[in-house]
Amino acid sequence: MTRFFWLREDEAATAAFSGSFNAAHKWSLPGVKCSACGATWSSWGNHYPLVDLSQLPERAAFEKARPESFTEFSRLRELVRPLAPPDAELPPGAAFGPLVGTASGEFGPFAWQGTSLLLVRRDAMERLQAEGVRGLLGGQTELRFRKKESPELLDLQLEPRGLLHPECIPSDASPPCPTCGRHAFARPDAPILAAASLPADVDAFRLVNFATMIIGTDRFVDAVRRLGLEGIACRELPTR
Ligand SMILES: [Zn+2]
Repeated sequence: MTRFFWLREDEAATAAFSGSFNAAHKWSLPGVKCSACGATWSSWGNHYPLVDLSQLPERAAFEKARPESFTEFSRLRELVRPLAPPDAELPPGAAFGPLVGTASGEFGPFAWQGTSLLLVRRDAMERLQAEGVRGLLGGQTELRFRKKESPELLDLQLEPRGLLHPECIPSDASPPCPTCGRHAFARPDAPILAAASLPADVDAFRLVNFATMIIGTDRFVDAVRRLGLEGIACRELPTR
């Protein structure tokens, strides 16, 4: 039986490294100002660093964060869809392309931005793959270092695959908006994963209905521990 773990920053471990970065993805879908539910919103956590919009004639429309009507948002989303992985979740704010910005200091094997963006040093990525960890896709980053010797940091493209179990979604949460799909609820204190929704072919992924949560299998977690790679805190989650 595969076991599943919620992966977050191990701050005690990452604090041992001086590395830091200040960056954003090159392109993103706009936010939505929805006339049906009244919300103006954007999602977080849906990053597709390997999706390249550089050949889209309308790429400039993806360079500035702003809210659009649902109609205009949908039109722009359809321009991206053929370039995105099949069945990708492309909510408002979904981001694409390389992480662009500045970086400095010494990096450990993993570096985080919040809970939902995970950078992996190339040597750590290759060691994990050599240990048989499946489905790790590393996007290039465009981080400018002031020093010449800079580490190669890859931005993990973690696709949304599994679901939080409906039982752990707060009962006072509104149902999803039928127009824009917004389904906002606080992260449960005791997350449970919906067993039937969990992928069997990858060892790291995001949750479809909570994209800022990154999940790893026991195969991922065991490889990280065996290799002594520091920077990830793991909490096993029950499945039902
Ligand atoms: Zn709506």
